[in-house]
Amino acid sequence: MTNGISRSLELLCPTCAGSAFEFDDNIDEIVRTYQCLGCGGSFSHDQIMLANASRIEAEVEAIGEELVGDAVKRLKKAFSGNKFIKIK
Ligand SMILES: [Zn+2]
Repeated sequence: MTNGISRSLELLCPTCAGSAFEFDDNIDEIVRTYQCLGCGGSFSHDQIMLANASRIEAEVEAIGEELVGDAVKRLKKAFSGNKFIKIK
């Protein structure tokens, strides 16, 4: 059951919503500076995360709902036709 969980989320620039950044891989991500290739603005890791927080939350919620929805569907399917078990 890996469907839906392994999707990756692109981080977007707080200014231009571009998704291409230049950063130094040798610097720890918490302290490194991300330079947007779209608008040239530079942002800290915190700023990027803050700007994307609502998108990340929405994505996590969507994944959760998908999983719950699938589980309920599977349950109903498994028990459909069985007269002795009723799902409330
Ligand atoms: Zn930008």
